[in-house]
Amino acid sequence: MPERKLGMELIEIDGSMGEGGGQILRNAVSLSAVLMKPIRVYNIRARRSNPGLRPQHLTGVKAVAALSSAEVSGLHVSSREIIFRPRILRGGRMVFDAGTAGSTTLILQSLMPVMAFSREPVEVELRGGTNNPMAPPVEYFQHVLLPTLERMGCRFQVELLRRGFYPRGGGVIRARSAPVEGLKPIRLMESDGVRRIRGLSYSCRLPAHIVERMASTAEKILKNAGYGDVYVERQALQPGDSTCSIDPGCGIILVAELESGALLAADNLGKLGVPAERIAEEAAQSILKQLETGAPVDKHLGDQLVIWAALASGISEYRVAELTAHTTTSIDLCRIMAGIRAEVDGELGKPATIRITGTSYRRPG
Ligand code: ATP
Repeated sequence: MPERKLGMELIEIDGSMGEGGGQILRNAVSLSAVLMKPIRVYNIRARRSNPGLRPQHLTGVKAVAALSSAEVSGLHVSSREIIFRPRILRGGRMVFDAGTAGSTTLILQSLMPVMAFSREPVEVELRGGTNNPMAPPVEYFQHVLLPTLERMGCRFQVELLRRGFYPRGGGVIRARSAPVEGLKPIRLMESDGVRRIRGLSYSCRLPAHIVERMASTAEKILKNAGYGDVYVERQALQPGDSTCSIDPGCGIILVAELESGALLAADNLGKLGVPAERIAEEAAQSILKQLETGAPVDKHLGDQLVIWAALASGISEYRVAELTAHTTTSIDLCRIMAGIRAEVDGELGKPATIRITGTSYRRPG
């Protein structure tokens, strides 16, 4: 069984390093639990205007602690330091509530590596926001992250049971995992052109013309840019539909399926006072800009893949359309916690190539 040895020294993680946000904490507790390395994280979210643990981060740490039977100190809202000592990974069914509209996908981000390396299947139900600003919408996990991780050997399913938007959230997602013993490295270097672009324009408790305007604007921009096979599905949920949120909200996600098999996406959320056309245009321009680089990995997948590449056996290599501080910070964290070797060829804000020699982690026992 993957069980921690008593008396192991704490690894010290400075939460203000690099990008200095919540992702350092999520990746740190996640790696701590998988690798059974106790950690102290200090200066948590020091670079944010509201530093320390927010409810979403708190729930995330509690959830990883539950899956790894960890002893944790410093667990309260605004806490700037935690000590996390994992003991043993467990499977089973669990429910976690982010409270209000805390992001369910960000909680899932920290849980997924732990779920994958648990000895038994894990099922978690997460409550909160499902489509939040500055976080992956649940569709991003379903249509981009999970299919990409499947190529590394992961087996996850994520179901949307109810949408949740700011401010009240109330959304529910259910995620299931099957155990893996080890992960294959990933190579995503070429785009080889765009096979087709698919998307979803969604809304809850809003007039259906909003979804229609977002979808048709995105389709028009992408077709005018020369992409022939473009289709954006329309989904306008109303009270009475089982997946309808308690607050109104809308958004769009566009996913380019590349000839190389890679998936590259851009998404956007509706904002009060911003016309539906503008929301769609921003998402469409973002995907066009990233496609123009010829790189097959979008800026968000670029950071989300790091922890998986760090655990995989062998060299993962991928080219991102835009190198972000989230990506370089995740790499630095994995260097500290997992001793990976990594090279980044490119500058922040520009396309770059990332090469990570994983730790070849295998589930003990
Ligand atoms: P903080 O409030 O401290 O900034 P946080 O916990 O809200 O932190 P970040 O540390 O900024 O979040 O991490 C956000 C994560 O969400 C990253 O993995 C990023 O790639 C992902 N992400 C953000 N926006 C999107 C988006 N529009 N689509 C897909 N993924 C996204």
